[in-house]
Parts: sequence; C-alpha cells; structure tokens
Amino acid sequence: MSTAVVNSANNGGSKSKKRQWIYAKKPQGELYKKRQWVGYSLLLFLFAAPFIKINGEPFLMFNIIDRKFSILGNLFYPQDLYIFVFGMLIVMVCVVLFTVVFGRVWCGWTCPQTIFLELIFRRIEYWIEGDWQQQKKLDAGPNTDQKQLKKFLKHTIFLIISFFISNIFLSYIIGADALIKIITDPLDQHIGGLISIIIFTLVFYGVFAYVREIVCIAICPYGRLQGVLLDDQSVTVAYDHRRGEPRGKQQKDAKTSQGDCVDCKLCVHVCPTGIDIRKGLQLECVSCTACIDACDAVMDKIGKPKKLIGFYPMGEIEGTLKKKNNTRTIAYSIVLVALMSVFCFLLFNRSQVDGRLLRAKGSTYQLRDDKTISNLYSLELINKSGKEMPFKLVCDDPRLKIQLVNPIQKLSKDGHATLSFFLIIANKDVETYKSNVKLAIYSGDKKVETLKTTFIAPPGMN
Ligand code: SF4
Ligand code: SF4
Repeated sequence: MSTAVVNSANNGGSKSKKRQWIYAKKPQGELYKKRQWVGYSLLLFLFAAPFIKINGEPFLMFNIIDRKFSILGNLFYPQDLYIFVFGMLIVMVCVVLFTVVFGRVWCGWTCPQTIFLELIFRRIEYWIEGDWQQQKKLDAGPNTDQKQLKKFLKHTIFLIISFFISNIFLSYIIGADALIKIITDPLDQHIGGLISIIIFTLVFYGVFAYVREIVCIAICPYGRLQGVLLDDQSVTVAYDHRRGEPRGKQQKDAKTSQGDCVDCKLCVHVCPTGIDIRKGLQLECVSCTACIDACDAVMDKIGKPKKLIGFYPMGEIEGTLKKKNNTRTIAYSIVLVALMSVFCFLLFNRSQVDGRLLRAKGSTYQLRDDKTISNLYSLELINKSGKEMPFKLVCDDPRLKIQLVNPIQKLSKDGHATLSFFLIIANKDVETYKSNVKLAIYSGDKKVETLKTTFIAPPGMN
C-alpha cells in the first residue's frame, strides 16, 4: 500500500503553509445518486432515533451520565455490561469482516463524518461559493464585500447546522425528553446543558468547517487499520492500470498503442481527500466512489467501456491474485456467528429485575425475645422491564420467615428501590452456624430473579 503523505492534495490551493486546502469538484453520477439515497436515509434515522419511543423508552439512548442505555426500547444498566462487551465485540468483528471483503466502503458511504461533510456541509459550500474552481478563485482573490458576505453566510449556516447536530448528539446522551426540557425551561435552570450544547456545536463546526478530511486521514483509527485488514482478495476502489496506461490524450493517428486514460484528472479533482487513485491504493482513499463516477462519464464521452476506475479485488489489478482463498473471511464469519449466538442467548435470558443482596453492614445475627434469631439484609433492586412490576420476595427455606422493614408491592417503571428485611428462624430449627439461602423475586406468578446469601445463627439455643 502506498504511504502517500497526508497532504498530497492535488486539488489544493494554499490556505496555509502546512496544509493544502482541498477543493473537491462537485460529484455527480449514478453512484453518487445511490450514495445520496443511502446517506440521507441514514441521516433521517440518526435524527429520528432518539425521538422514537418503544414502550415509552427511546429507540436509542446512551445515557452515560445516569448509566442507563436504551436499545430498541429495551433498558440496559451497568449490570448488563457483559451484554455490551459482547455487542462491542460483534461490532468489531463485523467491521473487520466488512473491511476484509469490501475495503473501506463504510467510510465513504455510511460514516456520519463523511455523510455530514459530503452531503450537507460541502453541498452548502457549492451552493454559496460555487464549484471547486470558483471556491479556489474566491479564496485566492481580494477581500471584497461579496467575498465577506459569502463567507459570513456560509459560516453562519455551518454554525446553525452544527448547533442542530449538537442537540441531536446530546439527545442520544441524555434522552430526547431531557433535551426538550433544556430547550423549553428557562435557560438559568440548565446552565450545564447549555454549556454542553455550545461546546458540541463548536466541536462540530470546527470539524466540518476546517478539520474535514484530516479526520479520515489522520485521526480516525479505522483508516489506519486498513493496512492490516486488506488482502489481495479485498474488493476496493482501484484504477485498472492495465487498461489505462500509457495515459494521454486520445489521438486518432497515434503510432504507439495508447491506454484508455485520457489524463483529464477529473478523478483527482472530485476526490474529497485530494489523492490520485491512479497511483494505486492509498491510505487516504475513503472509497467514496466519486472518482468512479467521474471516470465513467469520461469513458462514456470517448466511447470506451466504463469502470476504468471501479471496484476490483486488489490482487486482480496488481496481478498477484493467483487462487481464490476465503479462509480469513470464513474464519471471521464463524467467530461472528458464534458471538451473535452468545449475544442472543444473553439478551433473551436477561433478567427483568436486577438485585444486589447484602447483609446489613457490621451485623451478624440478632437474638430475639420470642426465641427466634434474625439476620438483617439490604436489597437494591432495579426494574429493567420498562413497565411497572408487581413484586414479591420468597425464601426457598421453609424454616425461614421474611419480615420486610419497608414493604413494597410494586417496582415502579424504570425504578430503583432499596429494601431492608429480616430473615427469621426459630431457635430450635437452627442446625448449623452458617447456611446457604436462596431468595426468589416474583413478579406475579413469574420468578424473575434468584439471589443467594447466607444465614448465620448459633445452633443449640432452645
Ligand atoms: S477520470 Fe479516468 S480518464 Fe480521466 S484521468 Fe482519471 S482515470 Fe484517466
Ligand atoms: S480515490 Fe476515489 S474513492 Fe478514494 S477517496 Fe478519492 S474519490 Fe473517493
């Protein structure tokens, strides 16, 4: 893989000494149309997900502050960490598998960074400042009133959109209801929320107005992973140099054989990371497919077959692909299926109620006047079912009676409850100093959780 330097921008006009600003030509073509469909559908989903509710809970919410997560309306708490670990492992294996087979298509077609940049911010830029050459001219030209007006308009719209995105982002963290409260309540009641929105707005604005492709090229670790994940059989955006070279203007009376590439450089001008795909696969390529569209249009015009730039297995172009070998893909797929099976098992067998049972701090047993012995416990409960639940505590040992200090009949929706209770045994029934006890939590007739503890009592006290 080529290690073309990060700022090898070919569309660049100098904005500073260190960075070549990339002026990408407005893309168009069949793949771009499809990319718009995919991108706008994903944006719609991204904007709607925190506001859609299932059983009164958000479709998606990752409330790290209250340590409460909602996925498809199912609530998860830190106690479900093991399910999250499996979920994350599955996502990682999916990413690896997808990259091994299809290269970096995720980056160009579905990554939020690319979708926001290419389908929202850059389109606004085209609308206000024109296509790449006009933008370049505007930046290089004198600081006229018209230039200032265009820049002011563009950056104001960028800030407004960043503000909107930061609200959506926050709704994923604190939930849509809490966000609406911040917006509708008097400002001084939510200074923290307001500061968060302002910080997120500035970060998004900075990323989409200035940092841009540097995120994909130098910051995002996924891009770096490509080098180790791709192999000869990975399908990726590539220039077919066997067909294209030697490149040059098409001449009717050419004496030497000529390739199909007319060296128009349109594939370079449309590239949002500023690279020349004809130099081979590069770390900077996000597989956005804009160069495929651009080159297809040229091939159409000169009457040559399309896909001089297209999706090809890397080894096919390089001539190193000898025999198809899917071992790596099959191995990743097996791991993925195994992880998904475990994940489904954990998910469907997840308890609706979580309980943490502890003996009251510093206590052992209490001798009572009525010739009984008791142990005091504290039980912390979390109702994860998303609805109100009837509650009953039952002990499996018939010799032990339960005496609730603060009786409750129900666990409220989304509720936490702390319960104190005694386990009591008659003196004559004590057989050993320490015995294991199981307590079951019932919701109606259904046992939803079993908890284990020990009961301590001195034997021989009649
Ligand atoms: S767009 Fe196609 S023909 Fe034009 S320079 Fe690129 S590869 Fe060659
Ligand atoms: S080389 Fe082509 S596919 Fe890769 S980032 Fe540039 S335009 Fe997109």
